[in-house]
Amino acid sequence: EQDVSEYRKSLAIRVSGFDVPKPIKAFEDCGFPSQIMNAIKKQGYEKPTSIQCQALPVVLSGRDIIGIAKTGSGKTASFVLPMIVHIMDQPELQKEEGPIGVICAPTRELAHQIYLEAKKFAKAYGVRVSAVYGGMSKLEQFKELKAGCEIVVATPGRLIDMLKMKALTMTRATYLVLDEADRMFDLGFEPQVRSIVGQIRPDRQTLLFSATMPRKVEKLAREILTDPIRVTVGEVG
Ligand code: ADP
Ligand code: MG
Repeated sequence: EQDVSEYRKSLAIRVSGFDVPKPIKAFEDCGFPSQIMNAIKKQGYEKPTSIQCQALPVVLSGRDIIGIAKTGSGKTASFVLPMIVHIMDQPELQKEEGPIGVICAPTRELAHQIYLEAKKFAKAYGVRVSAVYGGMSKLEQFKELKAGCEIVVATPGRLIDMLKMKALTMTRATYLVLDEADRMFDLGFEPQVRSIVGQIRPDRQTLLFSATMPRKVEKLAREILTDPIRVTVGEVG
């Protein structure tokens, strides 16, 4: 125990919540299947970053998480890698079902970056990823979603449009990520985010990442997360 708290201190990590899993020190500690390990190596990721050390075991254990860390700390892999594992554990999607994993991000650039990161790890498993954001033809988007996918990476407004068009359903969605929650709120997406969350079954796993935790985001987290573990890295939060 002493060892673990010393280790966390060395990473400038603060963790709260009950039954917190031990942080990992290496990707090998996660028990990832070999295709994921290969993809991690191919990315040139040698060691997990601070947030990944604590967030990966939390998320892999199925717990909700609030991850607070500044840009560039490696938050994307800490939700994308466990998402692939989560999807592999679920029954296959039937026609007209999907997605299983839903990721909301504030801007199309961010959504696109997450899309690319998810594709790298999803490929080996035949897991399909769709990006859903403004600036693309709604009809093309509709068709792609209708064809089915396990993962949707979206900006809130366009995802709402697609839900209204019944391009996808949330009946199988069990893994929800709100990335850069503070920026989504800054951009005025709180109503859309709340609407999306309201359409996803309450027994989902929910992950909220943010660089800062303004009161409004704190309130949302209290409302939509179940017994979350809070992981704060560095001086933020
Ligand atoms: P954040 O979402 O916290 O801003 P990102 O997930 O975008 O951070 O990661 C920032 C950069 O660090 C990206 O270029 C990513 O590929 C890289 N990265 C992530 N995890 C690792 C790792 N374990 N080792 C080396 N580089 C990593
Ligand atoms: Mg990010």
